Amino acid sequence: MSRVAVVGAGPAGIYAAEHLSTVHGHQVDVFDALPVPCGLVRYGVAPDHFSIRSVRDKLTETFENSLVRFRGNVHIGTDVSTEELASWYDAVIYTYGASADRALGIPGEVSPASIPATEFVKWYTGHPEAQDFGDMLRTSEQVIVIGLGNVAVDVTRLLVKSLVELRTTDMPEHVLDSFDKSVVRHVHVVGRRGPQHATFTTKELKELGELEGVDVILDPKDLPADDALASSGNKVIERNLKVMRQWSEGHNEIHGESLNSSNKKIEFHFYSTPQSFDAEQGSLTVERMQLSSDNSVIGTGTYESIPADLVIRSVGYRGLPLEGLPFNDRTNVIPSTDGKVDGVPGTYVAGWIKRGPSGIIGTNKKDAVASVESLATDLNGRQSVALDANEVDEILRARGVNYIDFEGWKRVNAAEIALGAERGRARTTIHERDRLIDIGLG
Ligand code: NAP
Repeated sequence: MSRVAVVGAGPAGIYAAEHLSTVHGHQVDVFDALPVPCGLVRYGVAPDHFSIRSVRDKLTETFENSLVRFRGNVHIGTDVSTEELASWYDAVIYTYGASADRALGIPGEVSPASIPATEFVKWYTGHPEAQDFGDMLRTSEQVIVIGLGNVAVDVTRLLVKSLVELRTTDMPEHVLDSFDKSVVRHVHVVGRRGPQHATFTTKELKELGELEGVDVILDPKDLPADDALASSGNKVIERNLKVMRQWSEGHNEIHGESLNSSNKKIEFHFYSTPQSFDAEQGSLTVERMQLSSDNSVIGTGTYESIPADLVIRSVGYRGLPLEGLPFNDRTNVIPSTDGKVDGVPGTYVAGWIKRGPSGIIGTNKKDAVASVESLATDLNGRQSVALDANEVDEILRARGVNYIDFEGWKRVNAAEIALGAERGRARTTIHERDRLIDIGLG
């Protein structure tokens, strides 16, 4: 039996730990800089997507296996270096994801009224390091969401969803309070390409049309003349286009009613490439694009202004380097071959830091299993030279690292359920880092 460290307790890390322990019988310590496990399932998946969020329970079951330990609130790179970790374990697998945002690179992008969706998502899911965007919601009637992916759809939906529905989620109370005081009336979804190029999935897209008191608007001229040609057999695109075609006819199939002036609005602006944001004027300038024969888009040289009190840039997540490991600055991933980090023996990767920020939660399982298989083959027949589990803990304690174990997570879990019950909710996320640590330490 070998001892393996996993860095990152999100889906990829936990799936790796599960496979390492149950299939290969290795001992695994899963480290995370956050005091609690589950990564983007807790701090990425939208709070109103209950079934996806419930994956959390399945993931944390992995820690019930006595071969797997959770060590939260441990910063690899600060509390422990990558070199140290390599010397303490027989192998290390990095699964710390892609936590930063991608930049647009346009004038005015850096402004208090222009925020990355990655940060906004952190805020409404109760991430301990999130900025507070409550004031922005209290003062922004018109919001622009840039991007045509599932994160853009999540953000758009939550901005206009009714408080009654938001109350059924596990959002922290201060976030709910901000949504209660929100003045957002009109969300403009801006994409540089067309409806047939959007990366959102149909289930998520459709939800926008099912929101109570919300109209969805899009220009029929932006839809392709021939859906079958535009989708080229891609079922998701085909279904997306069907949904959008109904909306373009100004008819919300779900509520069976036409556009209502008192409703909130979600308006799609396709073929609109952001050029600059003027926070003082409250407007985003976009260049209108057109489709060319090879299915790419080109600028038309005509520009439009879209009103915006707040811009939320949802143009993708970005991985960050970790000292001591190689990094590809162009693709923002740790370079690897078959899950093995290039040039660093005994070191592996899985999840978004291996392949970039794409796919659904389940994609990480296949990905993690493939990397673990590489790792297990390399370890096969080797004598363990790792530190004992207790030795690792002693070093952490000697450094003053207050690590949170799985029992600590169970205490946090129980505290969040109890906090929710006080207000008739199934759970309320605790967002303060110190409080999570206090509860976790018991
Ligand atoms: P994404 O699907 O890659 O979407 C990014 C969007 O940003 C695209 O529309 C892209 O347009 C646009 N974009 C990129 N650079 C741009 C620029 N310079 N100017 C204008 N637009 C730009 O990423 P995501 O929405 O962040 O989602 C990340 C992953 O998580 C995806 O795999 C997603 O499916 C998954 N996710 C799933 C769910 C769910 O299943 N419910 C929820 C959230 C996230 P182009 O296509 O033109 O580049």
